Amino acid sequence: MAREQMEYDVVVVGAGPAGLAAAIRLKQLAAAAEREVAVCVVEKGSEVGAHILSGAVFEPRALDELIPDWREQGAPLETPATEDRFLYLTESGSRRLPTPPQMHNSGNYIISLGNLCRWLAQQAEALGVEIYPGFAAAEVLYDEAGRVRGVATGDMGIGRDGQPTDRYTPGVELIARETLFAEGCRGSLTKTLIERFRLRDGRDPQTYALGVKELWEVAPEQHRPGLVVHTVGWPLDNATYGGSFLYHLENRQVAVGFVIGLDYKNPFLSPFEEMQRFKTHPAIRPVFEGGRRIAYGARALNEGGFQSIPKLDLPGGALIGDAAGFLNMPKIKGSHTAMKSGMVAAEVIFERLDGNAQASVEAAMRQSWVWDELYRARNIRPSFHGGLWAGMAYSAFDTFVLRGRAPWTFHNHADHTQLTPAGEATRIVYPRPDGRITFDRLSSVFISNTNHEEDQPAHLRLRDPAKAISVNYRLYDSPEQRYCPAGVYEIVREGADGEPRLQINAQNCVHCKTCDIKDPEQNIDWVVPEGGGGPNYPNM
Ligand SMILES: Cc1cc2nc3c(=O)[nH]c(=O)nc-3n(C[C@H](O)[C@H](O)[C@H](O)COP(=O)(O)OP(=O)(O)OC[C@H]3O[C@@H](n4cnc5c(N)ncnc54)[C@H](O)[C@@H]3O)c2cc1C
Ligand code: SF4
Repeated sequence: MAREQMEYDVVVVGAGPAGLAAAIRLKQLAAAAEREVAVCVVEKGSEVGAHILSGAVFEPRALDELIPDWREQGAPLETPATEDRFLYLTESGSRRLPTPPQMHNSGNYIISLGNLCRWLAQQAEALGVEIYPGFAAAEVLYDEAGRVRGVATGDMGIGRDGQPTDRYTPGVELIARETLFAEGCRGSLTKTLIERFRLRDGRDPQTYALGVKELWEVAPEQHRPGLVVHTVGWPLDNATYGGSFLYHLENRQVAVGFVIGLDYKNPFLSPFEEMQRFKTHPAIRPVFEGGRRIAYGARALNEGGFQSIPKLDLPGGALIGDAAGFLNMPKIKGSHTAMKSGMVAAEVIFERLDGNAQASVEAAMRQSWVWDELYRARNIRPSFHGGLWAGMAYSAFDTFVLRGRAPWTFHNHADHTQLTPAGEATRIVYPRPDGRITFDRLSSVFISNTNHEEDQPAHLRLRDPAKAISVNYRLYDSPEQRYCPAGVYEIVREGADGEPRLQINAQNCVHCKTCDIKDPEQNIDWVVPEGGGGPNYPNM
């Protein structure tokens, strides 16, 4: 069956803050110039926001520029950040440290980024943007000259055996003069573009963290709307980068998350279990006593910063937002930079549509405040390669004395190269969940409302299936069993000899992308499942 074609001036892949800001800016420019520019956004989640997971403390700088009257328009920014606390935890104690300047949140808001995206989508649609949730962009389309000419959404109704079922509907070709890739951290099409157009040549590898998050409704006496708490230290050791956040929103809700740098070394480490253990700390546990967990999810985030930004322009399109890696790690914020990059790219694309083929997103980004912000922050994350205290000391020096203008730049290393073989690592024994404050993975995935059509080809592909046992199991004791926050990977024993086999429970996948990043041999390829599959986050 032939694929239907739809033609646009601009197609945007991904309805996150970057993609939606780009779509809105394009329509604003078109309206100001009294021109028609057809813009379409595709989103793999069942609705806009369904796959969005963030902290989130939101810096409104880009939103102020994009929609200056957002307050009158009812943007869901309801809880101003009023107090910052930064704690160092030991196993049984806690000490308050001065809050690093990047983590001061006066003027910011504690929000659900998913809800902000839902609101941005309404603004975009009101301007005439066509948004198609439930459609995953599965393939980049190229013309004979090798220029990107759009994307194709995935076929629906292909069975596990690769054959069409009675649900079969072919994908749609979305043809565009320019295509913006706004897939967020470790985008699956973005990954192929970076390789094909060698966008990372001369740049550092991208590095990542995994954030595991829960949303709680807490007891009234525990709720301090506007309070922002970050911790470092326990339960992580000095060599492992990471920490927690607790953000008190409206409606007695507290967003709690634990972020761990994916350059961690011990293959026995489980980010999910570290998060559960963190909640049992005497300084943290009382927040959750008498409360109720209402949502769970996980998502990777970029840590590489300035030195890991790839080339942004490609023939027929550009990378924006976390697909390019614009997150500011010392701030743990990327929504404002994602939005700004979408807006800057939209302005450049508008020029390209006008015939100025030389207009460059990268050149324009270099002139924007995002570039300056990331440049100043560039040495902070890599300074933690020497451990927590070395990183804290260097960061203070870099921030207060050098003010981000050091005449040197530290470099990043690829996360998948960092694991120590299991034989040289210490096993970590995690406490059993109590079902009140701490939970297991399966009951957690249950409240992420994750759902995938069961009869479809695997969206987690092993390039060489034999390596699951010959390398991952034998050398690293299959770390994917522990780093996957959804329990997708399981070693099962078969036959009289109990031979190990890797079982992949793909229907549980929450699309965090960690396996695609951390697999030591880069043997796991995450590709989009059927559109609409994945988590259904209410307000993460
Ligand atoms: C745990 C955690 C805490 C964070 N805390 C904060 C914070 O407090 N403040 C802050 O500012 N930032 C925070 N961030 C970072 C922030 O969430 C990101 O920087 C921001 O979401 C990036 O926006 P984006 O539009 O580039 O990508 P995303 O928000 O990831 O959006 C990408 C969208 O594209 C869709 N998509 C992807 N691939 C396809 C495809 N092939 N076809 C169709 N659709 C596709 C996805 O489903 C998604 O909806 C945090 C991130 C995490 C993970
Ligand atoms: S299978 Fe991979 S992408 Fe899916 S939840 Fe597990 S680690 Fe994340």
